[in-house]
Amino acid sequence: MTWRATVLTLFPEMFPGPLGVSLAGRALASGVWGLETRDIRASATDRHRSVDDTPAGGGPGMVLRADVLAAAIDAVDASSDRPRLVMSPRGRPLSQARVAELAAGPGPLIVCGRFEGIDQRVIDARQLEEVSIGDYVLSGGEIAAMALIDACVRLLPGVMGKLASSTEESFSAGLLEYPQYTRPQMFEGRPIPDILTSGDHARVAAWRQAETEALTRARRPDLWALRPVQITGPKSESRKTPKNKTDG
Ligand code: SAM
Repeated sequence: MTWRATVLTLFPEMFPGPLGVSLAGRALASGVWGLETRDIRASATDRHRSVDDTPAGGGPGMVLRADVLAAAIDAVDASSDRPRLVMSPRGRPLSQARVAELAAGPGPLIVCGRFEGIDQRVIDARQLEEVSIGDYVLSGGEIAAMALIDACVRLLPGVMGKLASSTEESFSAGLLEYPQYTRPQMFEGRPIPDILTSGDHARVAAWRQAETEALTRARRPDLWALRPVQITGPKSESRKTPKNKTDG
């Protein structure tokens, strides 16, 4: 079955947006993945088609109503076991590991919030998984949903040219990627590092691994502390284990 994303939003006209160009856009056009949007407002029942109301307990802004959003979710996905996500700055930070899981499944249903947020009861009642794309606040969940979908789509079979490009890049092994260079050989007095043009594949690989480790250590001590390391046991069996914070 084709991987598909179903997006519930008050602004369906924002889609496919950037997902309609380049890698993701070509894959969408050729049917490698599918995109459906549902306008949450289509599930409003009053004559003003209202979707929000003032926060219980007072405070600024408006809150997306539980009854309207629940009806919108049920209209597209009443019974399936697809992951049900809601984009939220309060959610678990999105990781490459979670992206890979989502890409391996049937594709998620994604709720895009607006206003001050969403009535907690629909998050609980429809068991929505809250997902954050970072510690900052956007005005709506649509751009966050696009980021998540884009990250998933590029992992789908047939979307990226070379498998190696996804297995070597940042986060796939829990580390950041090494620096990349291309022609011209000299740019404003800065040459490409000699080793990369030496033709010695083993030395290139060793240089890249060293750069990957140095960059991760300097920029993301949190990732460095958790990096998987190879431990060779007495019978030469190797296993992966998290590196202890204290060992540098
Ligand atoms: N009052 C909310 C809070 O402080 O957590 C922020 C609401 S924000 C203005 C409106 C919507 O944008 C959210 O419901 C969510 O869907 C989306 N959003 C904002 N920042 C996000 C982030 N970092 N990650 C994922 N979604 C985000």
